[in-house]
Amino acid sequence: MIQGRPDAETDAWELSPAPETFAKTVREGLEPEPGLYIDGGFAPAADGRRFETIEPATESVLARVPDAGAADVDRAVESARRALKDWRRTPPLERAKHLFRIARRIQERSRELAVLESIDGGKPIKESRDVDLPLVAQHFFHHAGWCDKLRFVAGHGGPEPVGVCGQVIPWNFPLMMAAWKLAPALACGNTCVLKPAETTPLTALRLAEILDEVGLPPGVVNIVTGGPETGRLLVEHADLDKVAFTGSTEVGKRIAASCARRGRKVTLELGGKGPHVIFADAAIDQAVEGIVSGIWFNQGQVCCAGSRLLVEESVLEEVLEKLAWRMTTLRVGDPLDKNTDVGAINSRRQLETIRGFLQRGVDEGARLHECGEATLPDRGFWCRPTFFSDVQPSHTIAREEIFGPVLAVMSFRTPEEAVARANDTPFGLSAGVWTDKGAKALEFARRVNAGVVWCNSFNRFDPTAPFGGRRESGYGREGGMAGLREYLA
Ligand code: NAD
Repeated sequence: MIQGRPDAETDAWELSPAPETFAKTVREGLEPEPGLYIDGGFAPAADGRRFETIEPATESVLARVPDAGAADVDRAVESARRALKDWRRTPPLERAKHLFRIARRIQERSRELAVLESIDGGKPIKESRDVDLPLVAQHFFHHAGWCDKLRFVAGHGGPEPVGVCGQVIPWNFPLMMAAWKLAPALACGNTCVLKPAETTPLTALRLAEILDEVGLPPGVVNIVTGGPETGRLLVEHADLDKVAFTGSTEVGKRIAASCARRGRKVTLELGGKGPHVIFADAAIDQAVEGIVSGIWFNQGQVCCAGSRLLVEESVLEEVLEKLAWRMTTLRVGDPLDKNTDVGAINSRRQLETIRGFLQRGVDEGARLHECGEATLPDRGFWCRPTFFSDVQPSHTIAREEIFGPVLAVMSFRTPEEAVARANDTPFGLSAGVWTDKGAKALEFARRVNAGVVWCNSFNRFDPTAPFGGRRESGYGREGGMAGLREYLA
Protein backbone atom coordinates (compact mmCIF):
# COMPACT_ATOMS: atom_id res chain seq x y z
CA MET A 1 0.00 0.00 0.00
CA ILE A 2 1.31 3.46 -0.82
CA GLN A 3 1.02 5.78 2.13
CA GLY A 4 1.11 9.53 1.88
CA ARG A 5 -0.48 12.34 -0.09
CA PRO A 6 0.40 14.47 -3.11
CA ASP A 7 1.77 17.89 -2.24
CA ALA A 8 -0.51 20.60 -3.62
CA GLU A 9 2.29 22.81 -4.91
CA THR A 10 4.78 20.36 -6.34
CA ASP A 11 2.38 17.54 -7.18
CA ALA A 12 4.95 15.23 -5.63
CA TRP A 13 3.95 12.56 -3.14
CA GLU A 14 4.93 13.10 0.43
CA LEU A 15 5.66 9.73 1.89
CA SER A 16 5.20 8.69 5.48
CA PRO A 17 8.39 7.95 7.42
CA ALA A 18 9.87 4.56 6.59
CA PRO A 19 12.66 4.02 9.12
CA GLU A 20 15.11 1.15 8.72
CA THR A 21 14.15 -0.78 11.85
CA PHE A 22 17.41 -2.70 12.02
CA ALA A 23 19.24 0.53 12.94
CA LYS A 24 18.39 0.04 16.63
CA THR A 25 20.02 -3.40 16.69
CA VAL A 26 23.10 -2.09 14.90
CA ARG A 27 23.45 0.84 17.31
CA GLU A 28 23.09 -1.44 20.31
CA GLY A 29 25.77 -3.76 18.89
CA LEU A 30 28.34 -1.00 18.44
CA GLU A 31 31.55 -1.65 20.28
CA PRO A 32 32.45 1.59 22.10
CA GLU A 33 36.22 1.01 21.78
CA PRO A 34 37.05 -1.33 18.88
CA GLY A 35 40.63 -2.41 18.13
CA LEU A 36 43.03 -2.25 15.21
CA TYR A 37 43.06 -5.45 13.17
CA ILE A 38 46.66 -6.62 13.00
CA ASP A 39 48.04 -10.14 12.52
CA GLY A 40 44.61 -11.69 12.84
CA GLY A 41 43.75 -10.06 16.19
CA PHE A 42 42.12 -6.90 17.50
CA ALA A 43 44.17 -4.61 19.76
CA PRO A 44 44.29 -0.97 20.85
CA ALA A 45 46.96 1.37 19.48
CA ALA A 46 50.36 0.85 21.16
CA ASP A 47 50.21 4.29 22.80
CA GLY A 48 46.49 3.90 23.62
CA ARG A 49 45.40 6.92 21.61
CA ARG A 50 41.88 7.04 20.23
CA PHE A 51 39.67 9.41 18.25
CA GLU A 52 35.90 9.72 18.01
CA THR A 53 33.86 8.75 15.00
CA ILE A 54 30.53 10.55 14.95
CA GLU A 55 27.21 10.09 13.22
CA PRO A 56 26.88 12.95 10.72
CA ALA A 57 23.07 12.94 10.91
CA THR A 58 22.97 13.44 14.69
CA GLU A 59 26.48 14.51 15.70
CA SER A 60 26.49 11.83 18.40
CA VAL A 61 29.64 9.84 19.15
CA LEU A 62 29.42 6.29 17.79
CA ALA A 63 32.73 4.88 18.99
CA ARG A 64 36.26 5.78 20.04
CA VAL A 65 38.55 4.25 17.47
CA PRO A 66 42.32 3.58 17.80
CA ASP A 67 44.56 6.25 16.33
CA ALA A 68 47.34 4.08 14.92
CA GLY A 69 50.87 5.45 15.30
CA ALA A 70 54.27 4.44 13.93
CA ALA A 71 54.57 1.33 16.14
CA ASP A 72 51.16 0.05 14.99
CA VAL A 73 51.86 0.70 11.32
CA ASP A 74 55.21 -1.08 11.71
CA ARG A 75 53.51 -4.05 13.32
CA ALA A 76 50.87 -4.19 10.57
CA VAL A 77 53.43 -4.02 7.76
CA GLU A 78 55.63 -6.65 9.46
CA SER A 79 52.63 -8.92 9.82
CA ALA A 80 51.71 -8.46 6.14
CA ARG A 81 55.34 -9.21 5.17
CA ARG A 82 55.34 -12.44 7.19
CA ALA A 83 51.98 -13.53 5.78
CA LEU A 84 53.11 -12.87 2.21
CA LYS A 85 55.45 -15.87 2.27
CA ASP A 86 52.60 -18.40 2.45
CA TRP A 87 49.78 -16.42 0.87
CA ARG A 88 51.60 -15.87 -2.42
CA ARG A 89 52.20 -19.64 -2.65
CA THR A 90 48.68 -20.62 -1.55
CA PRO A 91 47.14 -22.56 -4.46
CA PRO A 92 44.96 -20.20 -6.51
CA LEU A 93 41.82 -22.25 -5.91
CA GLU A 94 42.37 -21.97 -2.15
CA ARG A 95 42.71 -18.19 -2.44
CA ALA A 96 39.52 -18.20 -4.51
CA LYS A 97 37.67 -20.05 -1.74
CA HIS A 98 38.67 -17.38 0.76
CA LEU A 99 37.46 -14.58 -1.53
CA PHE A 100 34.25 -16.46 -2.24
CA ARG A 101 33.60 -16.96 1.48
CA ILE A 102 34.22 -13.27 2.14
CA ALA A 103 31.69 -12.37 -0.57
CA ARG A 104 29.08 -14.75 0.82
CA ARG A 105 29.53 -13.52 4.36
CA ILE A 106 29.21 -9.91 3.18
CA GLN A 107 25.93 -10.86 1.54
CA GLU A 108 24.73 -12.58 4.71
CA ARG A 109 25.60 -9.54 6.82
CA SER A 110 24.68 -6.97 4.18
CA ARG A 111 21.77 -5.40 6.04
CA GLU A 112 23.90 -4.77 9.12
CA LEU A 113 26.76 -3.43 6.99
CA ALA A 114 24.49 -1.14 4.95
CA VAL A 115 22.91 0.29 8.09
CA LEU A 116 26.30 0.87 9.70
CA GLU A 117 27.59 2.50 6.50
CA SER A 118 24.66 4.94 6.60
CA ILE A 119 25.03 5.61 10.32
CA ASP A 120 28.77 6.30 10.19
CA GLY A 121 28.89 7.99 6.77
CA GLY A 122 25.52 9.74 6.37
CA LYS A 123 24.54 8.30 3.01
CA PRO A 124 20.90 7.27 2.45
CA ILE A 125 20.13 3.68 3.32
CA LYS A 126 18.72 3.06 -0.13
CA GLU A 127 22.16 3.86 -1.57
CA SER A 128 24.16 1.73 0.86
CA ARG A 129 21.63 -1.11 0.68
CA ASP A 130 20.97 -1.14 -3.08
CA VAL A 131 24.24 0.13 -4.53
CA ASP A 132 27.23 -0.10 -2.19
CA LEU A 133 26.71 -3.48 -0.55
CA PRO A 134 25.74 -5.41 -3.72
CA LEU A 135 28.81 -3.97 -5.44
CA VAL A 136 31.04 -4.86 -2.50
CA ALA A 137 29.96 -8.51 -2.64
CA GLN A 138 30.18 -8.58 -6.45
CA HIS A 139 33.72 -7.31 -6.29
CA PHE A 140 34.84 -10.21 -4.10
CA PHE A 141 32.88 -12.76 -6.18
CA HIS A 142 34.34 -11.41 -9.39
CA HIS A 143 37.91 -11.57 -8.13
CA ALA A 144 37.40 -15.03 -6.62
CA GLY A 145 36.86 -16.15 -10.20
CA TRP A 146 40.16 -14.65 -11.35
CA CYS A 147 42.48 -16.40 -8.88
CA ASP A 148 43.22 -19.40 -11.09
CA LYS A 149 43.11 -17.47 -14.38
CA LEU A 150 45.77 -14.87 -13.70
CA ARG A 151 48.08 -16.29 -16.36
CA PHE A 152 45.70 -14.72 -18.91
CA VAL A 153 46.41 -11.31 -17.37
CA ALA A 154 50.08 -11.61 -16.45
CA GLY A 155 53.04 -11.02 -18.76
CA HIS A 156 55.66 -13.61 -19.77
CA GLY A 157 56.98 -14.39 -16.29
CA GLY A 158 53.59 -15.70 -15.14
CA PRO A 159 51.44 -14.24 -12.37
CA GLU A 160 53.55 -13.02 -9.45
CA PRO A 161 52.13 -10.70 -6.77
CA VAL A 162 53.67 -7.29 -6.19
CA GLY A 163 54.08 -7.99 -2.47
CA VAL A 164 52.94 -5.95 0.54
CA CYS A 165 50.42 -3.25 -0.39
CA GLY A 166 49.59 -0.12 1.61
CA GLN A 167 46.06 1.02 0.78
CA VAL A 168 44.47 4.30 1.86
CA ILE A 169 40.81 5.06 1.15
CA PRO A 170 38.31 7.95 1.56
CA TRP A 171 34.94 8.28 3.27
CA ASN A 172 32.43 8.49 0.45
CA PHE A 173 32.22 4.74 -0.35
CA PRO A 174 33.99 3.22 2.66
CA LEU A 175 33.27 -0.47 2.13
CA MET A 176 33.20 -0.27 -1.63
CA MET A 177 36.62 1.37 -1.71
CA ALA A 178 37.91 -1.31 0.70
CA ALA A 179 36.57 -4.02 -1.64
CA TRP A 180 38.06 -2.34 -4.72
CA LYS A 181 41.44 -2.36 -3.00
CA LEU A 182 41.44 -5.70 -1.20
CA ALA A 183 39.73 -8.07 -3.65
CA PRO A 184 42.18 -7.73 -6.60
CA ALA A 185 45.18 -7.56 -4.26
CA LEU A 186 44.25 -10.81 -2.50
CA ALA A 187 43.29 -12.56 -5.73
CA CYS A 188 46.81 -11.91 -7.05
CA GLY A 189 48.49 -13.21 -3.87
CA ASN A 190 49.44 -9.88 -2.25
CA THR A 191 49.04 -9.02 1.41
CA CYS A 192 47.62 -5.69 2.57
CA VAL A 193 47.54 -2.97 5.19
CA LEU A 194 44.39 -0.91 4.69
CA LYS A 195 43.66 2.47 6.26
CA PRO A 196 40.03 3.63 6.13
CA ALA A 197 39.13 7.32 6.36
CA GLU A 198 39.00 8.83 9.85
CA THR A 199 35.30 9.73 9.56
CA THR A 200 34.16 6.27 8.41
CA PRO A 201 36.26 3.55 10.07
CA LEU A 202 33.46 1.34 11.41
CA THR A 203 32.48 -0.78 8.42
CA ALA A 204 36.15 -1.53 7.65
CA LEU A 205 36.47 -2.93 11.17
CA ARG A 206 33.32 -5.04 10.61
CA LEU A 207 34.94 -6.28 7.44
CA ALA A 208 37.92 -7.29 9.58
CA GLU A 209 35.53 -9.39 11.69
CA ILE A 210 34.32 -11.08 8.51
CA LEU A 211 37.88 -11.82 7.37
CA ASP A 212 38.44 -13.39 10.77
CA GLU A 213 35.20 -15.38 10.65
CA VAL A 214 35.98 -16.90 7.26
CA GLY A 215 39.47 -17.92 8.38
CA LEU A 216 41.65 -15.67 6.25
CA PRO A 217 45.19 -16.39 7.50
CA PRO A 218 46.50 -13.82 10.02
CA GLY A 219 48.38 -10.91 8.50
CA VAL A 220 47.01 -11.30 4.96
CA VAL A 221 44.85 -8.23 5.62
CA ASN A 222 45.58 -5.73 8.41
CA ILE A 223 43.36 -2.73 9.09
CA VAL A 224 44.73 0.33 10.84
CA THR A 225 42.47 3.24 11.72
CA GLY A 226 43.68 6.81 12.06
CA GLY A 227 43.85 10.17 10.32
CA PRO A 228 46.19 11.72 7.74
CA GLU A 229 49.27 11.05 9.89
CA THR A 230 48.51 7.31 10.02
CA GLY A 231 48.01 7.42 6.25
CA ARG A 232 51.34 9.18 5.78
CA LEU A 233 53.15 6.69 8.03
CA LEU A 234 51.69 3.85 5.98
CA VAL A 235 52.38 5.13 2.46
CA GLU A 236 55.92 6.19 3.43
CA HIS A 237 56.74 2.93 5.21
CA ALA A 238 60.09 1.55 4.05
CA ASP A 239 58.88 -2.04 3.67
CA LEU A 240 55.98 -1.63 1.25
CA ASP A 241 56.02 -2.82 -2.36
CA LYS A 242 53.00 -0.90 -3.59
CA VAL A 243 50.72 1.96 -2.60
CA ALA A 244 47.10 2.27 -3.71
CA PHE A 245 45.44 5.54 -2.79
CA THR A 246 41.96 6.95 -3.31
CA GLY A 247 41.36 10.48 -2.12
CA SER A 248 42.00 14.10 -2.96
CA THR A 249 44.29 15.26 -5.74
CA GLU A 250 46.29 17.35 -3.29
CA VAL A 251 47.22 14.36 -1.09
CA GLY A 252 47.61 12.14 -4.17
CA LYS A 253 50.30 14.42 -5.58
CA ARG A 254 52.25 14.21 -2.34
CA ILE A 255 51.99 10.42 -2.34
CA ALA A 256 53.07 10.26 -5.99
CA ALA A 257 56.19 12.27 -5.12
CA SER A 258 57.07 10.06 -2.14
CA CYS A 259 56.54 6.84 -4.17
CA ALA A 260 58.65 8.27 -7.02
CA ARG A 261 61.51 8.90 -4.59
CA ARG A 262 61.36 5.26 -3.50
CA GLY A 263 60.72 3.84 -6.97
CA ARG A 264 57.56 2.26 -5.60
CA LYS A 265 54.59 1.06 -7.64
CA VAL A 266 51.53 3.28 -7.08
CA THR A 267 47.96 3.72 -8.28
CA LEU A 268 46.04 6.92 -7.59
CA GLU A 269 42.28 7.47 -7.83
CA LEU A 270 41.79 11.17 -7.22
CA GLY A 271 39.32 14.01 -7.57
CA GLY A 272 37.12 15.00 -10.48
CA LYS A 273 34.92 17.68 -12.02
CA GLY A 274 32.88 15.50 -14.33
CA PRO A 275 30.99 17.09 -17.23
CA HIS A 276 27.49 15.96 -18.21
CA VAL A 277 26.69 16.96 -21.79
CA ILE A 278 23.06 17.08 -22.94
CA PHE A 279 22.55 17.44 -26.69
CA ALA A 280 19.22 18.80 -27.92
CA ASP A 281 18.26 15.43 -29.42
CA ALA A 282 18.53 13.62 -26.05
CA ALA A 283 15.56 12.14 -24.19
CA ILE A 284 15.41 15.13 -21.83
CA ASP A 285 13.44 13.54 -18.98
CA GLN A 286 15.81 10.59 -18.92
CA ALA A 287 18.80 12.92 -19.01
CA VAL A 288 17.44 14.96 -16.10
CA GLU A 289 17.08 11.78 -14.05
CA GLY A 290 20.70 10.96 -14.86
CA ILE A 291 21.81 14.43 -13.76
CA VAL A 292 19.86 14.08 -10.51
CA SER A 293 21.46 10.74 -9.69
CA GLY A 294 24.87 11.99 -10.83
CA ILE A 295 25.07 14.99 -8.52
CA TRP A 296 22.37 15.01 -5.87
CA PHE A 297 22.13 11.39 -4.80
CA ASN A 298 24.91 10.55 -2.36
CA GLN A 299 25.02 14.29 -1.53
CA GLY A 300 27.29 14.83 -4.54
CA GLN A 301 30.08 13.20 -2.55
CA VAL A 302 31.17 11.05 -5.45
CA CYS A 303 34.55 11.46 -7.12
CA CYS A 304 32.98 10.86 -10.53
CA ALA A 305 29.93 13.07 -9.84
CA GLY A 306 28.61 14.96 -12.85
CA SER A 307 29.13 18.35 -11.23
CA ARG A 308 29.28 20.43 -14.43
CA LEU A 309 26.24 20.33 -16.67
CA LEU A 310 26.67 21.48 -20.28
CA VAL A 311 23.38 21.84 -22.15
CA GLU A 312 22.84 22.59 -25.84
CA GLU A 313 21.46 26.12 -25.90
CA SER A 314 18.16 25.32 -27.65
CA VAL A 315 17.04 23.05 -24.77
CA LEU A 316 18.63 24.97 -21.88
CA GLU A 317 15.36 26.51 -20.64
CA GLU A 318 13.56 23.17 -20.74
CA VAL A 319 16.34 21.42 -18.85
CA LEU A 320 16.54 24.15 -16.21
CA GLU A 321 12.76 24.02 -15.64
CA LYS A 322 12.75 20.25 -15.30
CA LEU A 323 15.77 20.27 -13.01
CA ALA A 324 14.19 22.91 -10.79
CA TRP A 325 10.99 20.88 -10.50
CA ARG A 326 12.78 17.58 -9.91
CA MET A 327 14.91 19.19 -7.23
CA THR A 328 11.81 20.12 -5.23
CA THR A 329 10.74 16.46 -5.12
CA LEU A 330 13.94 15.22 -3.50
CA ARG A 331 13.70 14.16 0.11
CA VAL A 332 16.55 15.45 2.22
CA GLY A 333 17.03 14.15 5.76
CA ASP A 334 17.39 11.03 7.88
CA PRO A 335 19.77 8.66 6.04
CA LEU A 336 18.03 5.74 7.73
CA ASP A 337 14.65 6.54 6.22
CA LYS A 338 14.11 4.31 3.19
CA ASN A 339 12.55 7.22 1.24
CA THR A 340 15.45 9.61 1.74
CA ASP A 341 17.19 10.67 -1.46
CA VAL A 342 19.81 13.00 0.01
CA GLY A 343 21.33 12.18 3.38
CA ALA A 344 23.80 13.99 5.64
CA ILE A 345 27.10 15.52 4.59
CA ASN A 346 29.90 13.37 5.95
CA SER A 347 31.49 15.87 8.33
CA ARG A 348 31.26 19.41 9.60
CA ARG A 349 34.48 20.23 7.78
CA GLN A 350 33.07 19.05 4.46
CA LEU A 351 29.84 20.99 5.06
CA GLU A 352 31.83 24.15 5.68
CA THR A 353 33.81 23.58 2.49
CA ILE A 354 30.58 23.22 0.51
CA ARG A 355 29.11 26.37 2.09
CA GLY A 356 32.27 28.26 1.16
CA PHE A 357 31.81 27.23 -2.49
CA LEU A 358 28.11 28.22 -2.45
CA GLN A 359 29.04 31.67 -1.21
CA ARG A 360 31.81 31.96 -3.79
CA GLY A 361 29.34 31.03 -6.56
CA VAL A 362 26.97 33.82 -5.50
CA ASP A 363 29.81 36.34 -5.05
CA GLU A 364 31.16 35.61 -8.52
CA GLY A 365 27.74 36.32 -10.07
CA ALA A 366 26.15 32.92 -10.70
CA ARG A 367 22.45 32.39 -9.88
CA LEU A 368 21.73 30.00 -7.03
CA HIS A 369 18.70 27.66 -7.10
CA GLU A 370 18.10 25.75 -3.89
CA CYS A 371 15.82 22.82 -3.22
CA GLY A 372 12.60 23.28 -1.29
CA GLU A 373 11.52 24.74 1.99
CA ALA A 374 11.40 21.49 3.90
CA THR A 375 12.78 21.85 7.40
CA LEU A 376 15.99 20.02 8.12
CA PRO A 377 16.84 18.40 11.44
CA ASP A 378 18.37 20.76 14.05
CA ARG A 379 21.43 18.65 14.57
CA GLY A 380 23.65 17.09 11.94
CA PHE A 381 25.33 18.25 8.75
CA TRP A 382 22.86 19.09 6.01
CA CYS A 383 23.07 20.71 2.62
CA ARG A 384 20.08 21.06 0.31
CA PRO A 385 20.58 20.03 -3.32
CA THR A 386 21.50 23.09 -5.32
CA PHE A 387 22.29 24.22 -8.83
CA PHE A 388 23.75 27.36 -10.28
CA SER A 389 22.73 28.91 -13.60
CA ASP A 390 24.44 31.88 -15.31
CA VAL A 391 27.76 30.16 -14.66
CA GLN A 392 30.89 31.22 -16.55
CA PRO A 393 33.61 28.63 -17.26
CA SER A 394 36.01 30.80 -15.22
CA HIS A 395 33.86 30.67 -12.06
CA THR A 396 35.32 28.76 -9.12
CA ILE A 397 32.22 26.54 -8.93
CA ALA A 398 32.84 25.49 -12.55
CA ARG A 399 36.51 24.70 -11.97
CA GLU A 400 37.08 23.25 -8.51
CA GLU A 401 35.85 20.00 -7.03
CA ILE A 402 33.14 20.85 -4.47
CA PHE A 403 32.27 17.32 -3.34
CA GLY A 404 28.75 18.32 -2.40
CA PRO A 405 25.25 18.40 -3.99
CA VAL A 406 26.06 21.47 -6.10
CA LEU A 407 25.68 21.54 -9.88
CA ALA A 408 27.09 24.24 -12.18
CA VAL A 409 24.99 24.62 -15.36
CA MET A 410 26.42 26.09 -18.56
CA SER A 411 25.43 25.94 -22.22
CA PHE A 412 27.06 25.26 -25.59
CA ARG A 413 26.11 25.76 -29.24
CA THR A 414 28.09 23.20 -31.22
CA PRO A 415 29.55 19.74 -30.54
CA GLU A 416 33.01 21.34 -30.86
CA GLU A 417 32.20 23.75 -28.08
CA ALA A 418 30.74 20.93 -25.95
CA VAL A 419 34.01 18.99 -26.16
CA ALA A 420 36.14 22.09 -25.53
CA ARG A 421 34.14 23.05 -22.44
CA ALA A 422 34.02 19.49 -21.15
CA ASN A 423 37.82 19.31 -21.41
CA ASP A 424 38.35 22.73 -19.82
CA THR A 425 39.48 21.27 -16.48
CA PRO A 426 42.67 19.81 -15.04
CA PHE A 427 40.72 16.69 -14.00
CA GLY A 428 39.83 13.72 -16.20
CA LEU A 429 37.86 11.16 -14.25
CA SER A 430 34.35 10.80 -15.66
CA ALA A 431 31.95 12.28 -18.20
CA GLY A 432 28.36 11.69 -19.29
CA VAL A 433 26.82 12.27 -22.69
CA TRP A 434 23.11 12.33 -23.47
CA THR A 435 22.03 12.08 -27.12
CA ASP A 436 19.77 10.07 -29.37
CA LYS A 437 22.58 9.57 -31.88
CA GLY A 438 25.04 6.75 -31.23
CA ALA A 439 27.67 8.27 -33.54
CA LYS A 440 27.55 11.57 -31.67
CA ALA A 441 27.95 9.82 -28.31
CA LEU A 442 30.90 7.78 -29.56
CA GLU A 443 32.57 10.82 -31.10
CA PHE A 444 32.19 12.72 -27.82
CA ALA A 445 33.51 9.74 -25.84
CA ARG A 446 36.55 9.59 -28.14
CA ARG A 447 37.37 13.25 -27.69
CA VAL A 448 36.55 13.92 -24.06
CA ASN A 449 39.51 13.64 -21.72
CA ALA A 450 38.06 11.28 -19.12
CA GLY A 451 38.86 7.78 -17.89
CA VAL A 452 35.19 6.78 -17.80
CA VAL A 453 32.41 7.94 -20.13
CA TRP A 454 28.79 6.99 -19.62
CA CYS A 455 26.37 7.29 -22.56
CA ASN A 456 22.70 7.92 -21.72
CA SER A 457 23.35 6.75 -18.17
CA PHE A 458 25.52 7.79 -15.25
CA ASN A 459 27.39 6.36 -12.26
CA ARG A 460 27.11 2.74 -13.37
CA PHE A 461 29.71 0.43 -11.87
CA ASP A 462 30.67 -3.12 -12.60
CA PRO A 463 33.63 -5.13 -11.28
CA THR A 464 34.48 -6.24 -14.83
CA ALA A 465 34.92 -2.66 -16.05
CA PRO A 466 38.13 -0.75 -15.35
CA PHE A 467 37.64 2.52 -13.51
CA GLY A 468 40.18 5.31 -13.15
CA GLY A 469 41.23 8.76 -14.21
CA ARG A 470 43.47 10.79 -16.45
CA ARG A 471 45.41 13.97 -15.77
CA GLU A 472 44.92 15.24 -12.19
CA SER A 473 42.34 12.53 -11.51
CA GLY A 474 45.15 10.03 -11.10
CA TYR A 475 46.51 6.98 -12.86
CA GLY A 476 46.09 3.24 -12.78
CA ARG A 477 42.82 1.36 -12.97
CA GLU A 478 40.61 -0.52 -10.52
CA GLY A 479 38.32 -3.30 -11.75
CA GLY A 480 38.51 -5.66 -14.69
CA MET A 481 41.74 -7.07 -16.13
CA ALA A 482 43.40 -3.67 -16.07
CA GLY A 483 42.80 -3.48 -12.32
CA LEU A 484 44.36 -6.90 -11.75
CA ARG A 485 47.52 -5.92 -13.63
CA GLU A 486 48.12 -3.21 -11.03
CA TYR A 487 48.56 -5.96 -8.43
CA LEU A 488 50.88 -8.19 -10.45
CA ALA A 489 54.65 -7.74 -10.53
P1 NAD B 1 41.75 13.03 1.50
O1 NAD B 1 42.79 12.95 0.45
O2 NAD B 1 41.80 14.14 2.46
O3 NAD B 1 41.74 11.69 2.38
C1 NAD B 1 41.66 10.41 1.80
C2 NAD B 1 42.37 9.44 2.69
O4 NAD B 1 43.75 9.78 2.74
C3 NAD B 1 41.91 9.43 4.14
O5 NAD B 1 41.95 8.10 4.61
C4 NAD B 1 42.95 10.29 4.85
O6 NAD B 1 43.10 9.99 6.21
C5 NAD B 1 44.20 9.92 4.08
N1 NAD B 1 45.25 10.94 4.07
C6 NAD B 1 45.13 12.28 4.25
N2 NAD B 1 46.34 12.86 4.15
C7 NAD B 1 47.24 11.87 3.91
C8 NAD B 1 48.64 11.85 3.68
N3 NAD B 1 49.38 12.94 3.69
N4 NAD B 1 49.23 10.65 3.42
C9 NAD B 1 48.50 9.53 3.38
N5 NAD B 1 47.18 9.49 3.59
C10 NAD B 1 46.54 10.65 3.84
O7 NAD B 1 40.38 12.98 0.70
P2 NAD B 1 38.91 13.01 1.32
O8 NAD B 1 38.53 14.41 1.48
O9 NAD B 1 38.78 12.08 2.46
O10 NAD B 1 38.10 12.32 0.11
C11 NAD B 1 37.54 13.03 -0.89
C12 NAD B 1 38.40 13.02 -2.12
O11 NAD B 1 38.57 11.69 -2.59
C13 NAD B 1 37.77 13.78 -3.26
O12 NAD B 1 38.73 14.58 -3.90
C14 NAD B 1 37.30 12.67 -4.20
O13 NAD B 1 37.17 13.06 -5.54
C15 NAD B 1 38.33 11.63 -3.99
N6 NAD B 1 37.83 10.31 -4.39
C16 NAD B 1 38.28 9.78 -5.56
C17 NAD B 1 37.80 8.53 -5.97
C18 NAD B 1 38.29 7.92 -7.27
O14 NAD B 1 38.04 6.74 -7.49
N7 NAD B 1 38.94 8.68 -8.14
C19 NAD B 1 36.89 7.83 -5.21
C20 NAD B 1 36.45 8.41 -4.00
C21 NAD B 1 36.93 9.66 -3.61
